[in-house]
Amino acid sequence: MVLPKHAYFQGKIVPYSKAKVGVLTHALNYGTAAFAGLRAYWNELEKQLFIFRAPDHYRRFLNSAKILCMQLDHTPEILTQITVDLLRVDDYHQDIYIRPLAYKSDEIIGVKLHGLHEELSICALPFERYLDDDTNAHVTISSWRRVDDNIIPARGKISGAYANSAFIKTDANRAGFDEALVLTQEGHISEGSAMNFFMIRDGVLITPPITENILEGITRRSVIELARAELNLNTLERQVDRTEVYLCDELFLTGTAAQITAVTRVDYRPVGDGKMGPFTAHLYSLFQDILRGRVPKYKHWLTPVYEKS
Ligand code: PMP
Repeated sequence: MVLPKHAYFQGKIVPYSKAKVGVLTHALNYGTAAFAGLRAYWNELEKQLFIFRAPDHYRRFLNSAKILCMQLDHTPEILTQITVDLLRVDDYHQDIYIRPLAYKSDEIIGVKLHGLHEELSICALPFERYLDDDTNAHVTISSWRRVDDNIIPARGKISGAYANSAFIKTDANRAGFDEALVLTQEGHISEGSAMNFFMIRDGVLITPPITENILEGITRRSVIELARAELNLNTLERQVDRTEVYLCDELFLTGTAAQITAVTRVDYRPVGDGKMGPFTAHLYSLFQDILRGRVPKYKHWLTPVYEKS
């Protein structure tokens, strides 16, 4: 991966090499940071870069920061504008990933959330695929459990909690799987290491509710809306048992990085007939078109970066 060109750091846009923190920084030692992950897509025809649902990502980002007792005095709209300004300076003409971070910046010893300062950084870098083949993923059920709301709230995108995701991902990859599903403490399906879970069983689209220790995904919310509006499919938000995953007809994961990723095998068992199913395929291609600004009806989800004369 190449490094970002610039970063928004301590209130200004600077070369990325100048966006540095000391090793004693609180967030680096104790995981006391909140982050977001957005993507922007290059549309060659329009010569435009579109950020997907930026204000929604920033609303969640501010909520994550709030859970960590941070007082950021930015609105989602201001954060979106800073991102646009940064991307204009970067001048990317390709798909990119954007990483905002709000972190406890004090260089002190002491585990706590209160009485500390916070800083905001944003940087962006070129990014294409997250999984090698997002139409044909093989996943396992992780032996790790999802962090619980009363341990580290998964609802917030809290840096420290991503050690949990890293355990899940590494063990899955080392065992030869593309990704893993992770169970709650009670043994129900929560989500993937960094993506939300959907399955279709007997014609019903099902996803775990937000009380199952999931991140409240922006892609998840978009898929629920698209399924209803474009596929006439209502989503049932309910607990999902492990063995339902073995019996479902279609399964896919959603996330900013993973977009819509079709899962075709779980622990060597085929999902449906072992190929990406028709509903998933429909959502997959519709979503690709929406992300690149090719569907006028959903252009309100996109923030264009470059000014057009
Ligand atoms: N769950 C987790 C744990 C994640 O890190 C992500 C990625 N942000 C998601 C789900 C998907 O969320 P979104 O669609 O907002 O990217």
